[in-house]
Amino acid sequence: MFRDRRKWLRDTRVTKDPRRVPVATAEENARIPGLVIRNGRIFDGCGTEPFSADVYIEGDRIRAVDKRVPLDQQVQQIDASGMTVMPGLVDLHTHLSYHEPDIPAATAQSVADGTLRALERMRFYVESGITSVRDAGSHADIPFRLKEWERSGRINGPRVFAAGPLITGTGGHGAERLDVTSPALGKVREASGPTDWREAVRGAFKAGADVIKVASHFSAPEVQAAVDEAHALGLRVMCDAETHYIEWAIEAGVDTIEHPLPRTDDAIAMMAKAGVFAVPTLIPYVIIFDERGGYFDSTSRRFAFSKEDNLEVVARMHRSGVRFGIGTDLVMDWFRYLPHAYITELELMMEAGLDREEVLEAATLGGATALDMQDQLGSIECGKLADIILVEGEPDRNLRDLAQLHTVIRDGRIEVYEGQSLVPRCRAKAFPGVTPEDI
Ligand SMILES: [Zn+2]
Repeated sequence: MFRDRRKWLRDTRVTKDPRRVPVATAEENARIPGLVIRNGRIFDGCGTEPFSADVYIEGDRIRAVDKRVPLDQQVQQIDASGMTVMPGLVDLHTHLSYHEPDIPAATAQSVADGTLRALERMRFYVESGITSVRDAGSHADIPFRLKEWERSGRINGPRVFAAGPLITGTGGHGAERLDVTSPALGKVREASGPTDWREAVRGAFKAGADVIKVASHFSAPEVQAAVDEAHALGLRVMCDAETHYIEWAIEAGVDTIEHPLPRTDDAIAMMAKAGVFAVPTLIPYVIIFDERGGYFDSTSRRFAFSKEDNLEVVARMHRSGVRFGIGTDLVMDWFRYLPHAYITELELMMEAGLDREEVLEAATLGGATALDMQDQLGSIECGKLADIILVEGEPDRNLRDLAQLHTVIRDGRIEVYEGQSLVPRCRAKAFPGVTPEDI
């Protein structure tokens, strides 16, 4: 029988956020200055034709979207004339701590270096207009710590939905070579048998996972055990698989299937029927094919594939009514290709047959829905969390305009202004006997 903890969270005071981060207190929200975005062209992400209006943000929430929000001198204002005001973008597939090429093995395995790598990457994402990332596997507890610091406004970056370690069968994807199974890395958890797969899910949950990531190879009972355990804990499951493993994963009830790897029409029909999202991640394969001439890295992926094959898989899924989210999977140092890597991912989706509206939906509300956050994120609507970007131009007419990013607001805070990360001055603690004006 299907059980899902989330239904018990609906009418309680407990946060529904699968990241299990505390709801911002009134005091925390009061510390975020109010903000009005004036004269913008609003692309609200709800399917409405763009319209001109002001957006009023109070604390971490959108409070009003109106022709003219009354002026309040206490409130910060941004003039968005000539800009499109739209929901922040979602990237459903990152690896924040992965190593870059040509760094020594000891540095690659260093948790300190991994944390700093992740911090730099978070800046790349947020300065590209990406306000939420789903981290599909990183070292040790790095993504869990980062999401706490990001939530409390101590570091800049997107909100992080973290999977922790990738769970796979012995020698499965991600665990094909000895070096990546080193305990110092902790980014892959090999599991064997349904009981151990269940245990691996609980271990990730204990560490702070917001989502569970599983990868082939697995047996049907193994992936079933993992999905049952994750759903019972209220977490969604993302699956990196190919061929018949995809069918087993869908039968088990996974929520998203990553990558454009081979699958049958039957599997695609099952995805559409069950509402399983596809996160095709086309751009990394384009980079791999261009830079390396082919994909040779994985002994568990012994089939030929190409850019054309990948687009064809997306086209078949699109024709069958499968829903999409956007993920870039920028491993190595490819995050340095942002924002163009993300924009190219959107263009590749169009090459596969989606129209611009469908692609932007996948990048915003689609991504939020895959994260189980559609009631909080993904569109500009009153009551939602204020994750908003201001772009010079009209991305709904020309996707390349997304590169002309002016402002990024996450949780009501200005993270990027005039295209650059904005780091607020440190807030000094009141020193006994000294009034704040004297500090
Ligand atoms: Zn990945």
